[in-house]
Amino acid sequence: MSTKDFLEKDYYKALGVSKTAKPAEIKAAYRKLARKYHPDANKGDASAEERFKEISEAYSVLSDEKRRKEYDEARSLFGGGFRVPTGQRPGQGGFGGFDLGDIFNNTGDGGGLGDLFGGVFNRGRTTTQNRARRGADVETETTLSFGDAIDGTTVALRLTGEGPCPTCHGTGAKAGTVPRMCPSCQGTGQSSRNLGSFGISEPCKECRGRGLVVDDPCPECSGSGRAMSSRTIQARIPAGVADGQRIKLAGKGAPGERGGPAGDLYVRVHVKAHPVFGRSGSDLTVTVPVTFAELALGAEVKVPAHRGAPVTVRIAPGTANGSKFRVSGKGVRRKDGTTGGLIVTVEVMVPKDLNSKARSAIEELREATAGADPREELLERAKGA
Ligand SMILES: [Zn+2]
Ligand SMILES: [Zn+2]
Repeated sequence: MSTKDFLEKDYYKALGVSKTAKPAEIKAAYRKLARKYHPDANKGDASAEERFKEISEAYSVLSDEKRRKEYDEARSLFGGGFRVPTGQRPGQGGFGGFDLGDIFNNTGDGGGLGDLFGGVFNRGRTTTQNRARRGADVETETTLSFGDAIDGTTVALRLTGEGPCPTCHGTGAKAGTVPRMCPSCQGTGQSSRNLGSFGISEPCKECRGRGLVVDDPCPECSGSGRAMSSRTIQARIPAGVADGQRIKLAGKGAPGERGGPAGDLYVRVHVKAHPVFGRSGSDLTVTVPVTFAELALGAEVKVPAHRGAPVTVRIAPGTANGSKFRVSGKGVRRKDGTTGGLIVTVEVMVPKDLNSKARSAIEELREATAGADPREELLERAKGA
């Protein structure tokens, strides 16, 4: 049983007694009805069972002096209570999407109706405690520079979301007033029309399906009870995030209600391309141009590193074009504190224009290395297939 139950259900009516009935009268009424609708006496009758539950619930509250008082208080505060369509719970699509819970769950910083009711009910049972609700998960995205993605960074994220209006705490009513049950639909939010042999149900025109009418609307939200708000948070993006990765920032989502925990924030990260470096997991990649002579004769070449000064890579004589070298410690920091490497790929640059000296030297080289056709074996192998 919750605050809502108290407002939705007429326990006196369920037992067929008056609001001023004495305890003995309530007990007698309960006994009579309980015998009549007891499941043992009505095997398989679902409506009898439903009625039996209703009677039991009503009796459990009205037979307890303290709880009966709380119940009476709650209903007098809200003028008789709301009715919720059968089978629909507030906050689950009933009331045409309006969440009745919002009226009682004050997300503001105190002083709302939630507190009022919390005060009423916490004197008795802790029925309102289980009304704590976790905030919604929120998803957003951010674009990082290549370097920030590798090193980690802090970004400011602007989050916009719809929540209860802070001015009226979601009731839609002007300060000092409360919404009342829609008299046209009795709070169901639905009105039925009879069309000959069948009836159709449509959202109540009077309250636009909300089940509540506001006589004096909150000027801030024009009575809707909802408001868009935005907040900016500083989010720490860990080192080493990859393009397209979704990062979970626990507890940074929408705030919880009535002491419930905040939801989580998911940040989809886009990483800008770098003009020189690429990424392969926790390794950085770079392609470095070299000359034929450097590969053939061996050399020490300087290659750029993401952090700090260029590093020197030693190329052994006779290194094949496209060979890869790994420079450890110059990659992306991993979660465990270790760092990936820099993968260097060497690529021979063939000069477009040769001066005469270079041309004659290469011609000399051609003479000196003339001999077996380097493609001979390839051509042989191709035939065999
Ligand atoms: Zn408002
Ligand atoms: Zn209505």
